[in-house]
Amino acid sequence: MSLLPITIYGEEILRKKAKEITAIDDELITLVKDMFDTMRNANGIGLAANQVNLDKQIFIVDISPVEGYEKVKPLIAINPKIIASSNETEPFEEGCLSLPTLRADVFRPAAIKLRYLDLNEEEQEIEADGLLARVFQHESDHLIGKLIPDRIDNKSKKKLSNVLDSLLKRQIETDYPIFIK
Ligand code: ZN
Repeated sequence: MSLLPITIYGEEILRKKAKEITAIDDELITLVKDMFDTMRNANGIGLAANQVNLDKQIFIVDISPVEGYEKVKPLIAINPKIIASSNETEPFEEGCLSLPTLRADVFRPAAIKLRYLDLNEEEQEIEADGLLARVFQHESDHLIGKLIPDRIDNKSKKKLSNVLDSLLKRQIETDYPIFIK
């Protein structure tokens, strides 16, 4: 088992649009394994490559630890793209391994369609609603450099300013390894 250190709010790589993946090779397969180890160790249900300091368009999702979603299979999405979103939006309290201790209600489309490549380099499309749609959108956001604070109104953001400040100063404790320059 390999745990990769997780990048925290303030790291530049979390703010960049990640690079498209052009080859699915052994290195990528090892990365995927390490990402699953890292996500599960941190009790996360989604993880994007830039959260482990890699500039690549890939995220993994596994919501099966959440009650009621035990049967949902883990998913690996390479070069993912949201190709359709419902007009209806809904709020949901989100957290993020790169923003430890922060929780915020985020409004997002209730249902989406995601297009991505799987590990066999085959194009897939999946329609999702509920928690899965939520996690797909949160992780897709990571790959374009967007984080929870970018998806909430200024008033809510103001309320979080103390938490964001302490994250920038790394005045945090996590029970998983974090990336330190
Ligand atoms: Zn996140």
